[in-house]
Amino acid sequence: MAGSERGDNELPVLRSTGPKRQDLDTCVHCGLCLNACPTYRELGLEMDSPRGRIYQMIRVNEGRAELDANYQSHIELCLACRACETACPSGVPYGRLVEAARADLEEHATRPWKERITRDFLFGKVLPSPFWLRLLAAPLYLYQRSGLERFVNRAGLLNAFPRLKELAALSPRATLPSFFRHYGKTFPAVGEARYRVAFLGGCMANVSFANLHEATVRVLQRNGCEVVVPDGQTCCGALHVHAGRKDDAQRLASRNIDAMLNGGFDAILTNTAGCGCALKEYGHLLEDDPAHAEAAIQFAGKIKDVNEFLAAIGPVRPEREIQATVTYQDSCHLTHGQKLPLPPRTLLKLVPGLTFKEMPCADHCCGSAGIYNVQHTAMSMALLEKKMGYANGTSAEIIASANPGCLLQLQAGVHLHGSSQRVLHVMEVLDEAYGGKEGVPPARKDGGAK
Ligand code: SF4
Ligand code: SF4
Repeated sequence: MAGSERGDNELPVLRSTGPKRQDLDTCVHCGLCLNACPTYRELGLEMDSPRGRIYQMIRVNEGRAELDANYQSHIELCLACRACETACPSGVPYGRLVEAARADLEEHATRPWKERITRDFLFGKVLPSPFWLRLLAAPLYLYQRSGLERFVNRAGLLNAFPRLKELAALSPRATLPSFFRHYGKTFPAVGEARYRVAFLGGCMANVSFANLHEATVRVLQRNGCEVVVPDGQTCCGALHVHAGRKDDAQRLASRNIDAMLNGGFDAILTNTAGCGCALKEYGHLLEDDPAHAEAAIQFAGKIKDVNEFLAAIGPVRPEREIQATVTYQDSCHLTHGQKLPLPPRTLLKLVPGLTFKEMPCADHCCGSAGIYNVQHTAMSMALLEKKMGYANGTSAEIIASANPGCLLQLQAGVHLHGSSQRVLHVMEVLDEAYGGKEGVPPARKDGGAK
């Protein structure tokens, strides 16, 4: 059990921070979640299972164990994939528990100074800032597009630096100019406008998935949506919540609510399942903020994943054929976090010529989990190798998913273990089948005014 413990006979001291006691008490320790958990399947250790982690949280809550390095390692090795929530018959809010446990660690545990500075810079400066995101993307873009990356790979220059080689394989492709240039624009619907929606760009995706964002906007335009990309929006705070940086996440959530809630939108959309999950939980995140608590609930009620939204409004059937086989990798935060396994599959099955083939264990985490793959690379790579075995077994030429983080991980998987599959977001598949840019009206720069 975790680190230094107090005696079991001493009276429990219930801590006021960390996971809430009423949430912890929903677990009946039945163990039905164990085999759904990637870290448990990989390591076979109770301490790295959902039940084991909850048990450790309870002991910390009762003051019978410390927030020490041992506890921290088990809590941080969790992918926050929430597969255990899907498996749990007792409705344990595991996502909420692990986020609260990490917030507790962030507040009370010690970290090496280098790690502290890196985390402060990444979460506090980079992710919420278009300036920093563009500044850091520029050298990456030059490295990737100038031929230097190809030269380094061919010459095997990174072979002597295995950690650097791993990180290079996982790094996103910089896409410049970034999607930030579309902030404050309105994209008219193709034909009559049936809906007026806001689109959230997020943080890193603006500089690494600008093409995906543009494809998503076009798909929405073709489905009768006037799409506004509101100025003033910022990072959704999902990565902050997962890392235990609750204060940062609350500040970002307040900014997004102020920027978008009163824009008269039928829905506020994201193509990033991890963001969607966090955005739908703003009500919980801001429940203690009197200035935003009510607005946060209203805002969360307007959030939809693009797959969810399109499947619900009755999507326009694409006309172009894609003669290929596609398999779908569930995004954990869409399937387990938002309980939406079906919409992406429904949309893929609309595409003429495309054959859908389910892979085994499609709802098992691919090992991406936000920035987990760079923090816990060995575990992440072990999960990815298994995932690619399942994907390869379908012989599909396209692996689709609904979250940019999963796409990055799967692209690395194709590079390491695959057979030249294309890795695409569901929106990119649809955009291709709709004909891409052809016949889509241009945007106007109006700050999102009606
Ligand atoms: S989290 Fe749910 S499934 Fe897992 S041990 Fe607790 S009650 Fe059982
Ligand atoms: S969130 Fe995922 S990794 Fe974490 S305990 Fe649950 S199933 Fe395991």
